[in-house]
Amino acid sequence: MLKLYNSLTNKKEEFKSIEDNKVKMYTCGPTVYYYQHIGNMRAYIFMDSLRRVLKYNGYDIKGVMNVTDVGHLTSDEDSGDDKMELASKRENKSPYEIAKFYAGIFFDDLKKLNIDIPENITYATKFVPQMIEFVKGLEKKGFTYRIDDGIYFDVQKFPSYGQLSQKDLTKTGNARIEENLNKHHPFDFALWKFVPENHIMKWDSPWGVGCPGWHIECSAMGKTILGDKFDIHTGGIDHKTVHHEDEIAQNDALAGHRVVNMWMHNEFLLVDGGKMSKSLGNVYTLSDLEKKGFSAMDFKYFCLNTHYSKKLNFTFEGLKASSNGYKNLKTLIKEHKNASNKTNDEILQKYSKDFLDAINDDLNIPLALGVIWTMLKNQEKSVDIYNLVLKFDKALGLELDKEEIVSQVIPQKIVELAEKRLIARKNKDFMTSDKLRDEISNFGYEIKDSKEGYTLTKK
Ligand code: AMP
Ligand code: ZN
Repeated sequence: MLKLYNSLTNKKEEFKSIEDNKVKMYTCGPTVYYYQHIGNMRAYIFMDSLRRVLKYNGYDIKGVMNVTDVGHLTSDEDSGDDKMELASKRENKSPYEIAKFYAGIFFDDLKKLNIDIPENITYATKFVPQMIEFVKGLEKKGFTYRIDDGIYFDVQKFPSYGQLSQKDLTKTGNARIEENLNKHHPFDFALWKFVPENHIMKWDSPWGVGCPGWHIECSAMGKTILGDKFDIHTGGIDHKTVHHEDEIAQNDALAGHRVVNMWMHNEFLLVDGGKMSKSLGNVYTLSDLEKKGFSAMDFKYFCLNTHYSKKLNFTFEGLKASSNGYKNLKTLIKEHKNASNKTNDEILQKYSKDFLDAINDDLNIPLALGVIWTMLKNQEKSVDIYNLVLKFDKALGLELDKEEIVSQVIPQKIVELAEKRLIARKNKDFMTSDKLRDEISNFGYEIKDSKEGYTLTKK
């Protein structure tokens, strides 16, 4: 029996799909105004685990993941500028060029992480007519009102507003300075925002020229592809209080019933115990890790060793330990591959059951990895064990049988020299720094200084 934790009911529930053997699932995807960092990647690794475990249980999946290429403002609420418009000014490119560039890198990263990509990838700018229809539907049902800067959803007309994040409509705190004070309630949110003449991304609508609100994008794309009843919606925990609360209000107000059965959220990846931030210089991307000698799969293994619902603190020491663990695991698996012994069926079945029980207990992948380690260590080397691990890997996506491509990974020894050099530079010890540069060069690598520290490349 597959059990999943539903954030809407705050309970682990037995998963029952609406249609037999079929799961309809929506995942909040990236806003492609910049590089997605390793925290974002944790959200997609969680989605990957969920998709793989559902498939392991025999389900077919109809999945949707959006790419937000318009409408996400600098605040998750309704203030600030559109992130795509800002990026367009920053890089002197059209928002469409920006979206294409960062979405390209994003999908390359997903491939490196061996993420099972959803069947439908929807770009928000391609669904604006459906968003307008959605808002028209809400307007007809009396859930909207108009003020100077847009069309808003009236949360007081939707009595269960706040259920997901236990938000109380009577406890609103102080309005934020940048908030539009003409709103009927501070939690009301924009469905359609009017934009100034010089805005690049804008569309005609029955209400005037403007842009869709960020929340309506996911609701409209979900409805278009999955209909008005589907099984699971996923996203990071930061989206629970506003974005997902607002999605639920729009969806259920229009449909007149609950649209999404289960809401699932991954917890945050922290860096050095805190939030990643540009000012601290600790916003890492997958390619930053690669430059320091780690592979995407090292990072995936690092993430999978902590349950998705727990906070995970990223440090390079932690990643190093995971990288070693991952390599040792693969070495052990290889020893089984080359053994000719057989393992009896009862033993294989016991481990199969332990593994399934773990992944079906709300995706307890850390426990499932423990089952694999125990089996590999305690059983005589046998190709049956090897084959079973490969079957288990379908639920993990860790490429456990794939040879390391050493040439793409910077050896740890070189990274250690580079780290020493970084310290020397910080201490203004340029003699040591130059000596270390030469040493790195003698090993066939070139080191270049950068804002974040350094980059290493093979000469
Ligand atoms: P965004 O592009 O900001 O909409 O984020 C894409 C996905 O990454 C969303 O599901 C977020 O909830 C998730 N996310 C953002 N930061 C983190 C983090 N530090 N750890 C885990 N997930 C995150
Ligand atoms: Zn979304």
